[in-house]
Amino acid sequence: MVSGADAFVFEPRTEADVIRVFQVARESGRKVALRGNGRSYGDANIAEEAIVLDICRMNRILEWNPETGVLHAEAGVTIEQLWRTSLGDGWWPPVVSGTMFPTLAGALAMNIHGKNAFHAGTIGEHVTAVRAVLPSGSVLTLTPADDAFYELISSAGLLAAITEVKIQMRAVASGDLRVLPLSIANWDEQFAAFESLADGADYLVSWIDAFASGRSAGRGLVHAAWYQEESGARPHSLREDHQDLPDTLMFGLPKSMMSNFLRPFNRRGGMRLINAAKFRASRTLGNGRPHPDSLVGFSFLLDYVPNWRNAYQPGGFIQYQSFVPKEHARRVFAEQFRLAQEVKQEPFLAVMKRHRPDRFLFSHAVDGYSLALDFKHTAKRHDDLWRLCHRMNDLVLAAGGRFYFAKDSTLRPSDVTQYLGEETIARFRARKAEWDPEGMLTSGLAQRVGLV
Ligand SMILES: Cc1cc2nc3c(=O)[nH]c(=O)nc-3n(C[C@H](O)[C@H](O)[C@H](O)COP(=O)(O)OP(=O)(O)OC[C@H]3O[C@@H](n4cnc5c(N)ncnc54)[C@H](O)[C@@H]3O)c2cc1C
Repeated sequence: MVSGADAFVFEPRTEADVIRVFQVARESGRKVALRGNGRSYGDANIAEEAIVLDICRMNRILEWNPETGVLHAEAGVTIEQLWRTSLGDGWWPPVVSGTMFPTLAGALAMNIHGKNAFHAGTIGEHVTAVRAVLPSGSVLTLTPADDAFYELISSAGLLAAITEVKIQMRAVASGDLRVLPLSIANWDEQFAAFESLADGADYLVSWIDAFASGRSAGRGLVHAAWYQEESGARPHSLREDHQDLPDTLMFGLPKSMMSNFLRPFNRRGGMRLINAAKFRASRTLGNGRPHPDSLVGFSFLLDYVPNWRNAYQPGGFIQYQSFVPKEHARRVFAEQFRLAQEVKQEPFLAVMKRHRPDRFLFSHAVDGYSLALDFKHTAKRHDDLWRLCHRMNDLVLAAGGRFYFAKDSTLRPSDVTQYLGEETIARFRARKAEWDPEGMLTSGLAQRVGLV
């Protein structure tokens, strides 16, 4: 995370406040950037000298129906609030990101995916209604029957301010998952594991050692997980106290110390060591043996390492995620690692997931795979890193791949035109002209990639 901007932050508590913020913006001649909980990695939720409309204080659950599993909430409600409201009644959010801190507004604006993307798709596919305020102050409610529903969701905060959401939660018999770790020797094994497990598993994700090369390239650790039947569940698994993870590591060491522990390793040599050690551990510890894990523990592990981002200080880091059709994913990802190794800028963390396409406007999804790469950022090597990302973009585009605005810092206008296509961009511009004719809604990302 390396972006920043000076702006005027407004925190509305009601829909009427949201309308007033747009009025203030019009009267003061300022643009508006919409912001949720700031969990996007790049510059999608900020804009220099703009009014930032932060939705976090609109965070009331308006209605929860434990019979149907439909939850109606203000858009500043977080994924954490969702599961804390519903899990005791046997319901879990249908799609969650790797952190539980995003708001519903932010999650819908980016149309987030989870480790179940290959069968559950993106979060927008589970939304039954969404309410939004246009910059003019008009309010509208959209359902999946409206074309505009598929444009608002995924539009990265550039069309209207989402204020309320109705979402269909997923029934679960237990708060536990059965998790199978599989140590993986190389790229061939990675893709073979995904293809064989995708048929029945509820969740699939893989960590990959981006420093490994030659015959070990692509080595890593796949985790497959299945919802537990009630009979296999540990007692009280649906309770919050079962889900909440301890805030200490071994010997009572607070987890908040973890980023301090990691900081000395926050360089190439250190991270090569950590990746190699993690892979070696995967060969023995629990390999091939299923074990129970809580839904929260499996889904949001990083949330339990407070301030993990500090390990990347002072320069921060960027995340680069590309989505590549299944026929080309192995070749493109292997080549991305090779390029990173060639310029000695390997990602410190690499995570692969399986996806399926969806019909949303700025869709990032493909029938294929994504690879998310965390790159350390330093002022000294900034230009090298951007050059590397642009070379990786070229590979993705040539393979018919896509990108994800929530995880982007480096896309150029030509990259976006190519992956979204002229037709999609024309559709966006037509809706923007109708809903936001003065071009009030903006963001650093939208300005950078030429969408506004
Ligand atoms: C550790 C970590 C793990 C992650 N894992 C995943 C993952 O597995 N899958 C995944 O898909 N993403 C993942 N993400 C990304 C994250 O889920 C998304 O970036 C999400 O959009 C963040 O939501 P937010 O509430 O923080 O919104 P912000 O980041 O603040 O904003 C996101 C977008 O929403 C827009 N927006 C904000 N409020 C409104 C509104 N009221 N109306 C309309 N638009 C609005 C903003 O303009 C911006 O474009 C991860 C992020 C982190 C930090």
